[in-house]
Amino acid sequence: MKRLGALLASLLLAGSLTACGGTAAQEMQSIQVFAMDTVMGLRACGGETEAALAAAEDEIYRLDEALSRTREDSAVSRLNSAAGGTPVDVGEELRDLIARALDFSAATDGAFDITLAPVSSAWGFTEDTYRVPEDAELALLLPCVGAEHVHLEEGTAVSLDQGTQIDLGAIAKGYASDRMAAIYQEHGITHGIVDLGGNTWVCGGNLEGEPWQIGIQDPARSAGALAGILEASDAFAVTSGGYQRYYTAPDGTVYQHILDPKTGYPVESDLLSVSILCDNGTMADAYSTALYVMGSAGAQAFWRTHGGFEMILITTAG
Ligand code: ADP
Ligand code: MG
Repeated sequence: MKRLGALLASLLLAGSLTACGGTAAQEMQSIQVFAMDTVMGLRACGGETEAALAAAEDEIYRLDEALSRTREDSAVSRLNSAAGGTPVDVGEELRDLIARALDFSAATDGAFDITLAPVSSAWGFTEDTYRVPEDAELALLLPCVGAEHVHLEEGTAVSLDQGTQIDLGAIAKGYASDRMAAIYQEHGITHGIVDLGGNTWVCGGNLEGEPWQIGIQDPARSAGALAGILEASDAFAVTSGGYQRYYTAPDGTVYQHILDPKTGYPVESDLLSVSILCDNGTMADAYSTALYVMGSAGAQAFWRTHGGFEMILITTAG
């Protein structure tokens, strides 16, 4: 069961896609990209629109490759397949992203964890070969899970302890949305939306001078049914939820793709989804995943302590 995520934060494009930019009237232009296992939609208006969208598309494909752990030639794969303890030069961008991921782990008390890769594979979520692993199998994998097994080395190198592998799936799209924002800015885009499948960035409000409207999926209902609408002019909005990607076992049990790093099991909490709204895409993506793991009490406590973002929690109680 895949990719309802693309519909997750469906964008309600209020108003027409007509003129923008005052006297130098331009059309709102849009492209669709399939990358990072999801459908992405980008719209832009004002500035060098075509160049911006072309650069954005190239950048998405570049990041899809660079951050993938299923492509053999990616820097992530090189790191994952190196012998334990060997420093691997992953380049500045990836090292910085891993460093941020480690910071998110520390801030969320381990709820956010990029080292769940082998556990995620054991459940078949990475390869779409879903199965329920034995407890004994998970018990063998869990000792290699945890941010303490990732080491930032000299220069732009990183090393992993033996048996540890990383998966940046919970921040890759958020990071990509930050890069989209930078590209839009470089090209002088005045209005736009970047929807990277559940990771949305809105820029400059809509063409009527109003905030963009971002639909928040009602996780208890079918794709496209909304729990509510967020209005924002310039913000990143990210939603994580178990309903995005899951597996129903022959006995009817539903196993979803966000895992509790403490147990190696899919998260079971009182939350159906977490939406985060803030001014940084990578942080929004990390927090939406982490706060989903924490459950509603943990998420509220985290918000009170850390601040710097807004959130919508949809509980199992609706
Ligand atoms: P999506 O990428 O589907 O929009 P998320 O951003 O919430 O959703 O990321 C979920 C992905 O991150 C999973 O598919 C898995 O690869 C990985 N993951 C699962 N549990 C965790 C966790 N607790 N911390 C970090 N990454 C996780
Ligand atoms: Mg995430």
